[in-house]
Amino acid sequence: MKPLQSLRGMVDLLPGQTPFWQRIEATARDHFRRAAVEEIRTPLLELTELFARGIGEATDVVGKEMYSFEDRGDRHCTLRPEGTASVVRAAIQHGLVAQGPQRLWYGGPMFRYERPQAGRQRQFHQIGLEFLGHADPRSDVEAIAIAWDLLVDLGVDGLSLELNSLGSSDDRLRYRADLVAWLEAHRERLDPDSQQRITTNPLRVLDSKNPETQDLLAGAPTLAEALSGESHERFLRVRQGLEALAIPFTLNPRLVRGLDYYGHTAFEITSSQLGAQATVCGGGRYDGLVEQLGGPPTPAVGWALGMERLVLLLNQAQQAQGAEQRPGAAPDLYVVSRGVQGEAHAMVLARRCRHRPGDPLAVQVDLSGAGVDKQLKRARRSGARWALLLGDEEAANGTVRLMPLHGEGGAGSADRLLSQAEFLALSLDQLNA
Ligand code: ATP
Ligand code: MG
Repeated sequence: MKPLQSLRGMVDLLPGQTPFWQRIEATARDHFRRAAVEEIRTPLLELTELFARGIGEATDVVGKEMYSFEDRGDRHCTLRPEGTASVVRAAIQHGLVAQGPQRLWYGGPMFRYERPQAGRQRQFHQIGLEFLGHADPRSDVEAIAIAWDLLVDLGVDGLSLELNSLGSSDDRLRYRADLVAWLEAHRERLDPDSQQRITTNPLRVLDSKNPETQDLLAGAPTLAEALSGESHERFLRVRQGLEALAIPFTLNPRLVRGLDYYGHTAFEITSSQLGAQATVCGGGRYDGLVEQLGGPPTPAVGWALGMERLVLLLNQAQQAQGAEQRPGAAPDLYVVSRGVQGEAHAMVLARRCRHRPGDPLAVQVDLSGAGVDKQLKRARRSGARWALLLGDEEAANGTVRLMPLHGEGGAGSADRLLSQAEFLALSLDQLNA
């Protein structure tokens, strides 16, 4: 029978890769804890209406990329394409926003029906942060600083932060009119997608990935020119806040976010080490969203970072250093056993080592029943520092043989015969000494 394959754009994360993911997750968790940001987990499946209302019908995400279907109760459901709408829905539903400002983070898979390529999949993973109930420009600065510090701490090279202000909704309305007039005047030189967006979502034209359209846009009116004095002042305070934290940024007047609910600060963090899909993290302020989803007027700022792109970067960095493939995956001890009694003792000792109070060991037991030589070969491949050998004779005497697998002297050089009690009393440090 022909074996089945995963769906296009849905990727398996194999054991060689998961250590990178775990490292990113652990580092993010640590950074959030230090910044007093709490985790929230929401369902992967929501009513389609949440995203239609929260993201906007005219966006690519809602218009073309959602995994939507009717469930057995005829509800219109969608696999979440992003996290913000769900977090805001949950915060409203459970009255969190009424309890005061919320500092929340989330992580997990998102689903968008896009054309798969490097750094772009149909199931992908984000880590995101949402500050709900914060209006002060310092909250924009703090949100950006948390993302920046996380990426720096992970060792991502070639980072740059691009910043823009989308102004207030009034500013955008005024700008929209100017921009539409300009786009209409240049309609025939725009790519077909952008031509269509003139009516559906003109600001998104600025975000076009078409190089000719991008060149043409150099002459378009910019949002910066359309900002009111107040919006301008607010943006200045964000920039000063970043300067005070020595976080470098460049202004990009054509930076808009793909989603409709953003205003004022918008930002992206890109890496020069990624190809076409260079944006690792994107976010900004979305003061209108909570109200749009039926909650009380609540200012908010947040971001989401794409884990696949981060993993690509960490992989590249590791390959550049020529480091070993599976960091941290090797056990401390590999147990080789033969004979009914030897095998039985092996199981007992392995379990006791794993659950030693204070000083547990990572132990792999060879369960193959193969000859000792074969088991030892696998022990060396496992990356463990030590092998523990147990046969019926050792079991009868209550002893074990401890064999170094790597390091000076080479494998098998200096086996030690120990009583099982002596062995169990060895700390990891003594073992490694
Ligand atoms: P892009 O312009 O790359 O499509 P976007 O504006 O659609 O990005 P957001 O919705 O802001 O992206 O999501 C935040 C981050 O999530 C992106 O910067 C990117 O790192 C990641 N991301 C978005 N879509 C995908 C995808 N299909 N596959 C992998 N990562 C993704
Ligand atoms: Mg996209």
